[in-house]
Amino acid sequence: MTETHPPVPFTATDYAARMTRATDEARQAGLAGVVVAPGPDLVWLTGYQPPASTERLTLLVLAPDQEPTLIVPTLELPDAEAATGAPRLRLVGWVDGTDPYEAAGALLRADGTFGVSDSTWALHLLELQRALPGTRYRSLSRSLPMLRAVKDRAELDRLDLAGAAADATYAEILRRPFAGRRERDVAADLDALLREHGHEQVDFTIVGAGPNGANPHHEAGDRGIEPGDAVVLDFGGLMHGYGSDTTRTVSVGEPRQEVRAVHDVVRRAQQAAFEAVRPGVSCQEIDRVARAVITEAGFGEQFVHRTGHGIGVTTHEPPYLVEGEEQPLRPGMCFSIEPGIYLAGRFGVRIEDIVTVTAGGGRRLNNSDHGLGVVG
Ligand code: ZN
Ligand code: ZN
Ligand code: ZN
Repeated sequence: MTETHPPVPFTATDYAARMTRATDEARQAGLAGVVVAPGPDLVWLTGYQPPASTERLTLLVLAPDQEPTLIVPTLELPDAEAATGAPRLRLVGWVDGTDPYEAAGALLRADGTFGVSDSTWALHLLELQRALPGTRYRSLSRSLPMLRAVKDRAELDRLDLAGAAADATYAEILRRPFAGRRERDVAADLDALLREHGHEQVDFTIVGAGPNGANPHHEAGDRGIEPGDAVVLDFGGLMHGYGSDTTRTVSVGEPRQEVRAVHDVVRRAQQAAFEAVRPGVSCQEIDRVARAVITEAGFGEQFVHRTGHGIGVTTHEPPYLVEGEEQPLRPGMCFSIEPGIYLAGRFGVRIEDIVTVTAGGGRRLNNSDHGLGVVG
């Protein structure tokens, strides 16, 4: 039932457009440019992910009126060339025994302020500051938070595939036994099912049974799952390089009345927030809509986290649907809507879908039933 067609490959043109966008946004933000070390930003900008982030410097430098340049250890040049294949990206190798920071410094404006990717090792940033003491740096995620937020068609295609795989995983976990097994056994099933349905990486498999469901950060432990438990299932990872993240709450056997009642509130909050999605509405407005439904029902104090987060080449990134985030929604943005209610010592309920903004509203990338699933 999962769609398995391979996604549209990204082209050198896609990456060139992203590098241009980053350079333009940096200039608009008053930055002299952007420096990016291995991590999600480098993957998104170039398609290149070195085997491991190491003490050897790999650094992309983007600045106006300058060719995009990737400084790379010479021994990794062949891999970098194969991965990027981008004619508009200049590769500069450096060999052990030479100073790569001098080479990087030659590409930076000595008195400029640069956005630096969050995943850059402190070691590399300190060495850049040594080589060029006049330069200043700002966090890339703080200075250009919306850089990766709007997804293009090929990215949306991948997020759709990841969402469908997560839905297929949920459909199958409903048929597995819960009662008498430990949370970690069900978590292992979720991990295996996500991979079976095409994920190359699993980032989290939360199974919160009974009172553990009331802790939103609980992962999965040795607790035996019992009849009558409400169980929060929150799982996701990367497929073709793009994220999935979905949550459903199930009941082991016939749901208790209080679980039904709380679940109904969360379901209404999730639906109301989804219906509020359209271009131009602020991120915080979506949070307010979800929170209003839950507060109205008397559980405002028990909704202890933001309503959602962006998703793309990582499973948590801007935009954040949180009070104080005034960024307007734009077509192509993708994020979770995941209100929850957590009753300490008793149980928790959360429902989460990935949603994308369309011209006229929102579209869900997760389409599993929102009802309280009943498992055995
Ligand atoms: Zn299947
Ligand atoms: Zn989640
Ligand atoms: Zn999430």
